[in-house]
Amino acid sequence: MNHFFCSEKPGYIRTRTFVIVIAIIFAVVCVGGWYAYRTYERKLEETKKLLQTETDKYTEILSEKNKILNEKQSMQNELNFWETTAVICTPEGKKYHHYGCGHLEGRGGYIFNIEYAKSLGYTPCLDCCKSIDWDNIEKKAKLMDEQQRQQQREDFAKVNGK
Ligand SMILES: [Zn+2]
Repeated sequence: MNHFFCSEKPGYIRTRTFVIVIAIIFAVVCVGGWYAYRTYERKLEETKKLLQTETDKYTEILSEKNKILNEKQSMQNELNFWETTAVICTPEGKKYHHYGCGHLEGRGGYIFNIEYAKSLGYTPCLDCCKSIDWDNIEKKAKLMDEQQRQQQREDFAKVNGK
């Protein structure tokens, strides 16, 4: 019975086989690890590029948005100026009006400042002048301005990562 198992290979061959197997396993693990690392690195590079592209796009959109907001603010300021300063008088009428008043439909008129219209004897139209709350318009404009500034500060902080 014992003699039968003596056909096993000698000890040094088994040791050598063991070492070779370990070396192969080690090599496979190394190659696999290297490949995984390369794949990871490539993916990281791609992600970085994508992130940069998206960041550039975001920055561009943000600057476009700020430009539009500035234009809007400038138009708002101009509108506030005309709304608080200018009135429209018709040659035949006794009232001064604001842009869009129904009494002006189909009629020509002069654009005066309010003080000048008053000095000429014009009085405020009860339909379009009483509904305008100047204090409120001023307050709203200031609030909008403040909100816009706050938004710009936040956007700037976002882009600069602070
Ligand atoms: Zn009117």
